[in-house]
Amino acid sequence: MDRRKFLKTSALGGSAAAATTLAAPAYAQGKRTLTMVTSWGRGLAGVFDSAQRCADSITTMSDGNLNVEIKAAGELVGAFEVFDAVSSGQADMYHAADYYFVGQHPGYAFFTAVPFGMTAQELVNWYYHAGGMQLHDELGEIFGLKSFLAGNTGAQAGGWFSKEINSPEDFNGLKFRMPGLGGEALGKLGASVQNIPGSEVYQALSSGAIDGTEWIGPWADEKAGFQEITKTYYTAGFHEPGAGLSLATNREVYDSLNAAQQKIIEIAAAECHQWNLAQFLANNGAALARLQAAGVKVMEFPQPVWDAFGKASQEVLDQYMGDELFARIHDSAMKSMAESSAWNNLSSGVYTAERDRVRG
Ligand code: CA
Repeated sequence: MDRRKFLKTSALGGSAAAATTLAAPAYAQGKRTLTMVTSWGRGLAGVFDSAQRCADSITTMSDGNLNVEIKAAGELVGAFEVFDAVSSGQADMYHAADYYFVGQHPGYAFFTAVPFGMTAQELVNWYYHAGGMQLHDELGEIFGLKSFLAGNTGAQAGGWFSKEINSPEDFNGLKFRMPGLGGEALGKLGASVQNIPGSEVYQALSSGAIDGTEWIGPWADEKAGFQEITKTYYTAGFHEPGAGLSLATNREVYDSLNAAQQKIIEIAAAECHQWNLAQFLANNGAALARLQAAGVKVMEFPQPVWDAFGKASQEVLDQYMGDELFARIHDSAMKSMAESSAWNNLSSGVYTAERDRVRG
């Protein structure tokens, strides 16, 4: 076949395939630019990285036919406006933490984290093998979205405080940044809870607008610079034991893609979840050591505080159980979590405890 004939044949082949699989004629030319809005400031450690990796993977794997362009928080819409922007079709996709959107539907909390909920491993077990993804789709049908898990921070830290927390009463009147249902639980302990976009937390903490904040964990928190403002840091938190991030595509846009392009988005998101979780977990230990070397006092919440977190968290979850879809998501997630942890505790739970004991 001569070169000219080859070019002509492949061009015809390309447009014939497009005509049969793409609904909208405007897309038949092949290359499209998809706008991805995010809840993250440009360069925000871990979370913006995750959005960037998803975008780059989709662009590369589609050979440039889906060219994903990222807009950081505030560049097209604000951090918490990305959901409505994609639902309405103003943007094509978002990368965010779905618990920012509990106002749209409280069931979205489960796709990031609920207090006393799932670890990262338990979350993917549920998502891929115990009904989680189907429930994510069911929420998406309400809002015109097709979503995938596309990042994970691992277990998050309790956060940064202007004072030590010795009893549940110490939360009374405390101005604290915490999103989602965890934040609602702190509210039940008397805290004045705010949600503030990641890129604005440093300013809020340093100005005294808030007395404390959770963000992610040692690595991302160090990058955000909170250790410059306060030295009191609590490690394990109750609120985000394995926070998932989501990539959501406008449903009409998603449906206009061919099967291969849809699969590219699905696989890019899944790979990003794994890559991002590893990124956080690989960096947190060394970052914690640096923070301690810089004078940060690393604390654990005392047990009565954990008990109060547990009671308040249960009250918050119970509050939403009147919503039929929330209740189904809750029951599905909790059943899966119990089943996953039953074996995990007896296998890797015992193993890691024994490994660390034997190796010293
Ligand atoms: Ca957080």
